[in-house]
Amino acid sequence: MEFGHYIDNARVAPTTGERIEVVDPSTGKSFATIARGNATDVQTAVWAAQRAMGDTLDGPWARLSPVDRSNLLFAYAAAVVKHGDELAQLEACDTGKALKTARADASVLARYLQYYAGCVDKLHGETLPYASGFTVLTIREPIGVTGHIIPWNYPMQIYGRSVGASLAAGNACVVKPAEDASLSVLRLAEIAAEVGFPSGTINIVTGFGGEAGAALSANQGISHISFTGSAVTGALVGRAAAERHCPAVLELGGKSPQLVFEDADLEQALPVIVNAIVQNAGQTCSAGSRLLVQRSIYEGVLERLIERFSSLRSGPPSIDLEMGPLVNAKQHARVRSIVEQAETEGIRIAARGQIHPEASHEGYYQQAVLFRDVPPQSQLAQEEVFGPVLAAMPFEDEAEAVKLANGTQYGLVAGVWTRDGARALRLARKLQAGQVFVNNYGAGGGVELPFGGVKASGYGREKGFEALLGFTALKTIAIKHD
Ligand code: ADP
Repeated sequence: MEFGHYIDNARVAPTTGERIEVVDPSTGKSFATIARGNATDVQTAVWAAQRAMGDTLDGPWARLSPVDRSNLLFAYAAAVVKHGDELAQLEACDTGKALKTARADASVLARYLQYYAGCVDKLHGETLPYASGFTVLTIREPIGVTGHIIPWNYPMQIYGRSVGASLAAGNACVVKPAEDASLSVLRLAEIAAEVGFPSGTINIVTGFGGEAGAALSANQGISHISFTGSAVTGALVGRAAAERHCPAVLELGGKSPQLVFEDADLEQALPVIVNAIVQNAGQTCSAGSRLLVQRSIYEGVLERLIERFSSLRSGPPSIDLEMGPLVNAKQHARVRSIVEQAETEGIRIAARGQIHPEASHEGYYQQAVLFRDVPPQSQLAQEEVFGPVLAAMPFEDEAEAVKLANGTQYGLVAGVWTRDGARALRLARKLQAGQVFVNNYGAGGGVELPFGGVKASGYGREKGFEALLGFTALKTIAIKHD
């Protein structure tokens, strides 16, 4: 199978003819190739998107009425539901994720498209009280051609939240999926064409980050860039955008803490805590990767977690266990080396999960690992692992819990488990994070809930109505009539 770019509603071969192997992480074997895009391919895609917009919003996409735009997005959502199984199979093969996770991703994608479809005709400006003799109004216009650099961990969800919001605001898109996970995104662009989106509205250029990705973030025709990925790459994208005064939304990593107080409902908390680190084999920006437990219940909580961790299984997506393999050989080696390094430093492993006997030895499988008494300044407590590795540590009181929770460079998500309402509110205000969950974690997806970080977790917000506003250019019109 040879996949091209997808530009102007057609498959397009890479200008250089060069290709990238697509590897199935459950076997380590290549089963397809994608196009290795470069700056020329990106430029072709940007021109296509510019034609869809037109010079004065008179292109075939930009001139659609809000209701037509909304209907197209609703039809897109329905088509994603119809193709859900096909998309999930493709994603599982490309990224190794468990089928149930891939199926959930397809439904969340559909939900993003529905949500933003419903926003299109509610996106209005205001009239502002001003000096006498004036009428002043604001209108929210499309920002132009938007660039979307997508990582490999949740291609469908991240496509949904950023492309969905951008289209709802009336923009055309150029998307650069990750070199390790481009297939679902390419298929999604085809489905959009089948549904009736005009040529050039959604364009996909595949390739390596340093080539196609860098070319997209530096392209003069891009008026807004959304990036989800590592903090290091995010800084490169942010710098390229800043140099040409292009707004950027950067959703970077996290080392998100879960704080468990002695009055927590553990029956409710523990399954959520486990799921928050093993979902997608821990390859989740918002993974709850640090577990902070009040000392009085620390041993009891660990005991119960040891039982759960020991029974967690990694296996091929076809068997659909708790976890699939990691996405590629590089990540596999990286996670293993962090685990080994922590052991070398004397940090104790409290429990390990299992690898299913049917898992190929060539696949990138990593057992779930629970570390205990992790020193707060260790690499394990400070750095994002991006694997199913949970770092547990005790705290004495609220003050220490907050200090530990805020004591990394990141600030994406935090979870607080307590029955004390005042404490929950106090902590929610003190925690440095873009989202704080009390007695839950992740709210089951939360398409409607603004998401993004503080500190090294990035800036700008994805999801919800907030993200939609970021994809518009606000114009103020002041009319003097007296
Ligand atoms: P990872 O190292 O785990 O792949 P990255 O943050 O590097 O994480 O990748 C996230 C996305 O950013 C991918 O689509 C990747 O191709 C892209 N990318 C990587 N390097 C760059 C770069 N220099 N400029 C723009 N995009 C990049």
